[in-house]
This record gives sequence, C-alpha cells and structure tokens, in this order.
Amino acid sequence: MILKGWTVDLGSCSTYAAPRCCASCLGPQEVEVKAQTSQKSGNIRTTLTMSFPYCQICAKRAVLEKLRRAVILVIAGLLGAGLPAGAWFLDVPVPAWARIVAAIALTAPIALLLALATRPSKPNAPATARGEAVALLNTHGSVLCTNPQFAWLLAQANGRQPREGTLWFTTEVLSPLTAGVMGVLLLVCWAKYGDAIPPSSPPPRAPAAAITVPSPPPRMTATATQPSPTVRRPGPTTGKGTTSPSWGR
Ligand SMILES: [Zn+2]
Repeated sequence: MILKGWTVDLGSCSTYAAPRCCASCLGPQEVEVKAQTSQKSGNIRTTLTMSFPYCQICAKRAVLEKLRRAVILVIAGLLGAGLPAGAWFLDVPVPAWARIVAAIALTAPIALLLALATRPSKPNAPATARGEAVALLNTHGSVLCTNPQFAWLLAQANGRQPREGTLWFTTEVLSPLTAGVMGVLLLVCWAKYGDAIPPSSPPPRAPAAAITVPSPPPRMTATATQPSPTVRRPGPTTGKGTTSPSWGR
C-alpha cells in the first residue's frame, strides 16, 4: 500500500533540471506531467508544482492514477460521512454513539477495499510505476522516484545524492484515512448537536375511518324537515273523575 523508491531533494522548484527521458521506463521523453503537493502552516497554504518527463504510455498511466485518486477520495469522503449519518438516524434500540462508531469501523475497510479493487496492475518492465513515476513528498522539493536509474540521473543533473525513501500517503492509505476522518467529524457533530436534533420517528397514522369510510350524507325526509304541528285534541270525557255542574233549585 505504501510506495518505496528513491528520494532526491531538489530544493528549489525554479532551478531544478530533469533528464530528457521517461521517469518510469527511461524511454524517450514525449510529454511532461505535473506533480503537485500542498502544505498548510497556520493560515498560509503553500502549493508546489513541478513537471517531469514521460513517454506517452507512462504519462497516460500517471494521469489516470491522479484521476482515480480524486474519484476514490471523494467516494471515501461521502461514504465516511454518509454511513455514520445514516446510523445516527437509524431507528433501532442501540445507543446513537454505538451505531455511529460501528459505522465508522465499517467505512474504513470498505474505503480500503474500494481503493485496492480499483488499483491499476503493475506495468510490464521497463516501466516502474502504476501511476506517477515521480511524486512530490513535500513543498521543499523532495521527490520520490520509482525508477532508481531516473533518480540517479535526476540527482546527478542537480548535484544531489539519491537515497531510499517511502511515499506513505498513497491512494490506498488516503482512502480509509479520509473515510475515518469524515466519520470522526460526524461523531463530533453528534456529540455537539445530537441532543438538539430529535430522533426520527414514523409519522402518526391517520384514523382509518377518516380515510376509508366517508360519513353518509344526511337523509332529507319529510318528517325531518317539515315541522309537524302538534294538535292537542280533547280526549273523550268520562264520568269518572269529572264533575258536572249542579244547578240548585
Ligand atoms: Zn515511459
């Protein structure tokens, strides 16, 4: 996953000289490919760009590798933030912090597998690099060469001595690292704002009767609409309980 090679300290990007042969296979130089790195110190970001010679075939591999790295790191970042975010709002009886930590532990291996699965195969000799044959190690002009003969020629052209070196931050290392950093950032967000955001819950169900069974319209009937006059008729009089006027003689 790390890249071993030969380091040459070029010192200054404005005065370095490069041999006119491909940095990967030592064939004739046909194009130049830019290598770039940046470092931040306080509020100041320093970016260093240097160009190195390649043949067409090796240059194509170098450009494709730069493109692959950019795509993989974007996917790793989205994965690293997205999976823990999904675990945060998952509606299961497990504490949120445990769900997020489990998701972070899952994203890093996935990001690593993604980088390993898309890694280009090793090129046939005399080519020496899957991608870039010269990588910038820092903004002070130290470069790592995959071809020992090119490293020696480059060092000789600039009055330097090559030495064995290592590129630690390859795509295969940066991918799980990016996913992990994004996951930790999300964990910090949860620790800070987790109480302010209510957990997700399904929307309340509407009463079934209100949806399925509409209430029937009121029936219009004569008895209901027309007021019935109440006529009180005098009932038949009976002798019992009644008093009849008596006329005195
Ligand atoms: Zn080449």
